[in-house]
Amino acid sequence: MGDYCLVCREVAGKIEIPGGLLWEDDNAVAFHLPPLDDNPRPYLGHCMVVTRRHIDHVGDLTVAEAESVARGSRKVAVGLRAEGAERVHVAVIGLGVEHFHQHLYPRYPGVPPGTPWMAVDELPNAPHGDAQQIAAFVERLRAHL
Ligand SMILES: [Zn+2]
Repeated sequence: MGDYCLVCREVAGKIEIPGGLLWEDDNAVAFHLPPLDDNPRPYLGHCMVVTRRHIDHVGDLTVAEAESVARGSRKVAVGLRAEGAERVHVAVIGLGVEHFHQHLYPRYPGVPPGTPWMAVDELPNAPHGDAQQIAAFVERLRAHL
């Protein structure tokens, strides 16, 4: 859907995805959040499952796309758990980029009880990484997929 859409550019390989795609099928792809100008050191383990097709709303998914998103999410969640996540939060927020993307957000051990799921990346000891560290993380994750 053109160059304006961030997710379309990611799917088309026009944005560097450290470590490459984690998973893909005909309908959807999964990858670790890449460093971007507004977030140069993403939270390690913050992964995305996105549709190949430029659709906005979760209600626009075909059944096949919904199944693909579920498959990809499960796969990445298994890997994140094997890499130490106690929980994997899964969310479609729908307030940012208008291209379906589902977040997978690991919760690592030691997070104080009561910490909201979206605040785990703001803790002082939350792991963040640059492109090289993300690529290394993706390599470890891939070994579990
Ligand atoms: Zn798009």
